[in-house]
Amino acid sequence: MPRLLLALAVAAFAVLPARAGSEPGRSGAVPAGDSNRPLIQLKREAKAEELPAVDQPSAAPAAPAVPAARADQRYWVVVRAMTRDQRTAIAGAGMSIEEIGSNQVAGVAHIKTIQKLKALGFEILFQTSLARYTKDFPPQDKAYHDYKRMLEALQSLAKANPKLVSMFSIGRTWQGRDIWCARFNTTESGAKPSQKPGAVFVGNHHAREHLSVEIPLKLAEHLAAKQNDPAVRKLLESRDIYVIPMLNADGAEYDISTGEYKWQRKNMRVNPDQEIGVDLNRNYDFLFGGEGSSGDTYSDTYHGPSAFSEPETQAFKAFLEARPNVKTLQSYHSYSSLILYPWGGKDSPVEDAQDLKAYKVMAAAMAKMTGYTAEQSSDLYVATGDCTDWTYAALKIFSFTTELYPSYGNGGFYPGAAAIDKEAPGNIKAALYLVEYSDDPHRAAAATR
Ligand SMILES: [Zn+2]
Repeated sequence: MPRLLLALAVAAFAVLPARAGSEPGRSGAVPAGDSNRPLIQLKREAKAEELPAVDQPSAAPAAPAVPAARADQRYWVVVRAMTRDQRTAIAGAGMSIEEIGSNQVAGVAHIKTIQKLKALGFEILFQTSLARYTKDFPPQDKAYHDYKRMLEALQSLAKANPKLVSMFSIGRTWQGRDIWCARFNTTESGAKPSQKPGAVFVGNHHAREHLSVEIPLKLAEHLAAKQNDPAVRKLLESRDIYVIPMLNADGAEYDISTGEYKWQRKNMRVNPDQEIGVDLNRNYDFLFGGEGSSGDTYSDTYHGPSAFSEPETQAFKAFLEARPNVKTLQSYHSYSSLILYPWGGKDSPVEDAQDLKAYKVMAAAMAKMTGYTAEQSSDLYVATGDCTDWTYAALKIFSFTTELYPSYGNGGFYPGAAAIDKEAPGNIKAALYLVEYSDDPHRAAAATR
């Protein structure tokens, strides 16, 4: 597997210093997201404009206070690891693995996680503080959407296309922000049920993966812009399409809130020991708390006190459970250039042979369209509590994880604005493919015979 061997050296030695040299100033176009601001202000922002067909939750939970920022004790580390079992053990110790080479992995680890890794006998090949290399959305990255601009982008689509696009909130984040969903349906709007086969596109389970907000937004814009294109029109008339660009809105805002990128991955829950955050993509109820997730609150892969303990995963769960017509799901992350399918939480393949065949065919097709690599998620390392494992296991939704990868520019989590337009076309093609087969994913496998 082409596992980003180059990227390791690039990320560890070239990318970070390159970022550090960038303009640290805040772009005037990106409003400050202050995670400490009162809920009332957040609500005002969200309701600032008329929203077509909005299904507004009635009461917002109280916004919990966030403790004053403490020194970031996390590091970018490179650890020697040759096998999947070793990678799983490293993930289980609490490191968020972001890059995999044949002999090593790279990612983010708290200082206490590094101590654990050493105690387990792992060799730390490289280690550098994250605090040294942070920055805000710089002027050249202003194409990225913060929460407010993401909301405005969806609103303008809904306003311009009232017969096609509607919006509603699927629930609220820990800090009380609405989690916005744009719906594309030619006959139903808002939260009204539909019998048409449904497809869901969700971004930003992980806060710092800003590109994973942009791709679903680009998809939404494409569906609106190309609605009179016969092929797109056919999909729009026959499907029920949901786009949720920013699931972890609190974390995404926090990541750009202080004039420096915070490398935030988790949500903004204040844990009882005052450590911040739960890894939303370890919080789903499939082998919850098992391999590849951490019970340490300081860890980037902290799975939370219990499955679905977080308002964001609860909201997404309720949203999906209320829509039995949803048959496919794409969860966007960055960065690794991969199209992943279940299981992620165990190393055995999907048991249903027909499903497995469809998964393989669809992942391969989408890999071809994006230039990415298709594989079973746990081929990388085993990680439990993942969104797509749960949606497939519990709801039989054909679910994929796309690890977007900008293999140019600065790479990594903060790849620059050029990555958006470069990654979008292939991923839009893959998304339309997924929508197409949402009536019966098994049809995709039959189509290749
Ligand atoms: Zn991610």
